[in-house]
Amino acid sequence: MFKGKINPKRNSEVEKVLELSKEKIDDCMQCGKCSAGCPANAGMDVLPHQVIRFLQIGDVEKLRESKSIWNCAACFTCESRCPRNVSVSKLMEAVRQTVVRKQGEDRLTPEFVAKIMQDRKMPQQAAVSGFRKYTK
Ligand code: SF4
Ligand code: SF4
Repeated sequence: MFKGKINPKRNSEVEKVLELSKEKIDDCMQCGKCSAGCPANAGMDVLPHQVIRFLQIGDVEKLRESKSIWNCAACFTCESRCPRNVSVSKLMEAVRQTVVRKQGEDRLTPEFVAKIMQDRKMPQQAAVSGFRKYTK
């Protein structure tokens, strides 16, 4: 069971994730339906409903360090099961983007994106995030 205190003052890290995802986290009632139906939950150290919880308490760094953001298959099962229309998938993608953007400072170069595509261990999500960032 997650233990933490809700931070009523949302920090800039959380605001960035919300801006990128265009999602809402206050509607989540922690019912766990997203986690129960997630086909990738066995490979997650932070389950989908816990992703929302960490955002609610303002701990984005915990999510950046997690395996979950790279193991999410972006299948949208969580979104389709959510009774509150919250998309964990979009929030996962937004957190991934904050990691990729940080590594590439403000912008990725074509050389960097080509290089990471050659690394077979590189999660596909990272490459996709890189392309999205580069083309913006
Ligand atoms: S299914 Fe929706 S309301 Fe339930 S825990 Fe997941 S995000 Fe929150
Ligand atoms: S989009 Fe990601 S978090 Fe949501 S059900 Fe699919 S694998 Fe799980």
